[in-house]
Amino acid sequence: MTDQVSLHAVVLHGTGGVWHARTGDGRVVPVSLSGRVKNASSFKLAVGDNVALEEDTRGGSWRISEILPRRSQLTRREPGAGFGERVLAANVDQVVVVMAAIKPEPHLRMLDRFLAIAEANELLPRVVINKIDLVDEEGTFHRFADYRHAGYTVHLTSVKTGRGMNELRQAMDGFVSVYTGPSGVGKSSLLNAMYPGLNLRVGEISESVQKGRHTTVGGLLHPLPGAAGGYVVDTPGLREVGLWGLPPADLPACFPEFRAYLRECRFADCTHIAEPGCAVRAAVESGQVSRARHESYAKLRGELGEAEEALASYTRRDGRRR
Ligand code: GDP
Ligand code: ZN
Repeated sequence: MTDQVSLHAVVLHGTGGVWHARTGDGRVVPVSLSGRVKNASSFKLAVGDNVALEEDTRGGSWRISEILPRRSQLTRREPGAGFGERVLAANVDQVVVVMAAIKPEPHLRMLDRFLAIAEANELLPRVVINKIDLVDEEGTFHRFADYRHAGYTVHLTSVKTGRGMNELRQAMDGFVSVYTGPSGVGKSSLLNAMYPGLNLRVGEISESVQKGRHTTVGGLLHPLPGAAGGYVVDTPGLREVGLWGLPPADLPACFPEFRAYLRECRFADCTHIAEPGCAVRAAVESGQVSRARHESYAKLRGELGEAEEALASYTRRDGRRR
């Protein structure tokens, strides 16, 4: 074994057993998963995984000899039959939720949902309001005060004027980021303007990930050009990740501005929807917590309750456990 070279790499994409990984010196090489690792590993390989490679003794081809521990993962819990869990990407650092200031109008319920999904996956959420050139910036700044108050960084950007793009780029450099948001808000435009040469069409690629041959794997990583490194993850979309499987009682903490009040409610199992003596609702009434954010919470909570119901009846019917 002394003639074996080993090196570390990041898994970029893969289909049906053939994976590609990027080594420290920037080469992208095809890699295979050795049967030994497949059996020994407690989890399945996913894009974003850091791996150790060993060169085949004959040279020229690389095998994954070890999957290194993950610092995070973006997980899709299947709502339908099976209730399985699938890792869309490993080692994701942050979720960048992009909305347009206008054209299309910001979809705040969707924003809240994506932020909650990021929180549930313990990923750092970041808010970007793009197309700021089309509106009055000060008005937009105030419009998103609830999000700053909740502790989120809100970037106001314009691909047209370059406004806010240096700061956003600095926040991306060296990190693994997932971009999400409705189509047409400027995700591809932003990424391509910050990283000339990336040539990314976010929507288009996501569709190909969804419908195409990458289906079995769930996502791919694009290395960011430039010395600072970092990656953009293309996944089938956080919409599909959903909050399925999150215990409803874990949802309140996914709204960071609720956290200070959660222990103050009269009932320990308060759902913060209708109970008397609810400190979260009191904070809404006194203006400390945004009513719109609380409404988003209530809506998501309702959905999770329905999902739990469905799971319970499925488990009863099938006599199976998760
Ligand atoms: P995506 O679907 O989120 O990837 O959105 P695109 O990047 O494809 O952008 C959708 C449209 O918005 C395109 O016509 C862009 O030229 C336009 N656009 C993107 N960013 C801006 C911006 O900051 N200001 C203005 N005025 N238009 C923008
Ligand atoms: Zn409460």
